[in-house]
Amino acid sequence: MDPSGFDDRTHALDAAHRLATEFLETLDDRPVWPRASLDEMLDAFGGQLPEDGTNPAAVIEEIAERAEPGLVAIPGGRFFGFVIGATHPAALAADWLVSAWDQNSGSSTLTPATVAMERIAGQWMLELFGLPATASVGFVTGGQLANFTCLSTARVAALGRAGWDLAERGLRGAPPMRFVVGADRHGSIDRAARFLGIGRSELTVVESDDQGRMRADALEQALLGGDGPTIVCLQAGEVHTGAFDDFATLIPIAKRHDAWVHVDGAFGLWAAASDSLRPLTLGMEQADSWATDAHKTLNVPYDCGMAIVRDPADSIAAFRTGGDYLIYSGLDPWDVTPELSRRARGVPAWAAMRSLGRSGIAALIDRLHENAVAMATGLASIDEIEILNDVDYTQVMFRAGTDAATRALGEAILRDGTAAVTGAEWRGRASLRCSMSSWATTPDDIERTIGAIRRLVAS
Ligand SMILES: *Cc1c(COP(=O)(O)O)cnc(C)c1O
Repeated sequence: MDPSGFDDRTHALDAAHRLATEFLETLDDRPVWPRASLDEMLDAFGGQLPEDGTNPAAVIEEIAERAEPGLVAIPGGRFFGFVIGATHPAALAADWLVSAWDQNSGSSTLTPATVAMERIAGQWMLELFGLPATASVGFVTGGQLANFTCLSTARVAALGRAGWDLAERGLRGAPPMRFVVGADRHGSIDRAARFLGIGRSELTVVESDDQGRMRADALEQALLGGDGPTIVCLQAGEVHTGAFDDFATLIPIAKRHDAWVHVDGAFGLWAAASDSLRPLTLGMEQADSWATDAHKTLNVPYDCGMAIVRDPADSIAAFRTGGDYLIYSGLDPWDVTPELSRRARGVPAWAAMRSLGRSGIAALIDRLHENAVAMATGLASIDEIEILNDVDYTQVMFRAGTDAATRALGEAILRDGTAAVTGAEWRGRASLRCSMSSWATTPDDIERTIGAIRRLVAS
């Protein structure tokens, strides 16, 4: 083996490039849902760790060949399951550079190029979302960790304002906190609370309306009487309906009770980047923290989430590290999130935004919404199908007769392979969900999907 590894490396990278291109070029024709089960994949990759090594390029060939039947066509135009974005070319290619560069991007002193790109990407996002330009933006793996990061920050700040230094004194004996959430919050809010040591029974759950928006009268009621440190969690983009809480009404109510307001806007915050959809987010800039991500709506490859906090001093109070071997130079990435060593995951977000430009980002969000409307209109033209939500953003939820028929249709769609949609429960009934999150979805993709569903319903 060449001790510099140069030839091996070049061959491995060439192989990866060729195989990645092949995968991307077959996306339009391959079944969207994986053909192989997890057990089959375990067999494909399993066995003992071989005693002897293999040349890197051969390993790459082996990976691509064995993984093939177990891959899901997420970067294509007809994956509509959960809420999952595809991959914009600039972001994907930038992601390759990030791996090649291997910049450990927690410190601005060590890795100025990638930290600068992340800082600028953060500023661009604040501008697109209409949020305060001085807010801190911490890059984390996704919406879950963004919610956790923001809520950790919120707790330190809320207790701090009540005279309790959490970092010094810990939780024992701390003033009781109120943690107020909507009935249709995302599951990652409950998990974030759990990571913070807040039990399910300690959540104050506020009723929501038929689209999953928190009810203002119910929030008012929930906040009456109590005092003490309070966190209110609102939502931009409910995963089933795509609905947005009425921030302009709810945030002033929460603020009258001195609450910290957090907005979970994993895919919803991006509505603010579009002139026509921005009204959905009206008033959200009055919150104290916002969680969002770049891997859904912006179509950056996994993973990339952002924890945004109005006052960077609150982020620092929660996260600045005391490691004496660390060099400080103003605000470092590791001052605002739980992570220390990490990849430069904000670089692909910079690349996607640079490539799309402001108008391209707005056009992308508008197109996702138009695709949702077209999908809903097409599905509604099938007799058996009923659309369950107001299609104000990117989500379409539907039913095909009974619970059993709806679930059977969901399974048939995945087996058929033309498109992928995933199931959910809404108000106690089975439903199917189409999320328009892929930049690659064309009108033809929508037509093919509606055609396939029409055919499956008929049989
Ligand atoms: C997807 C989503 C999350 C979780 O985000 P991940 O990136 O999967 O960690 C949180 N909240 C909402 C509203 C979401 O749609």
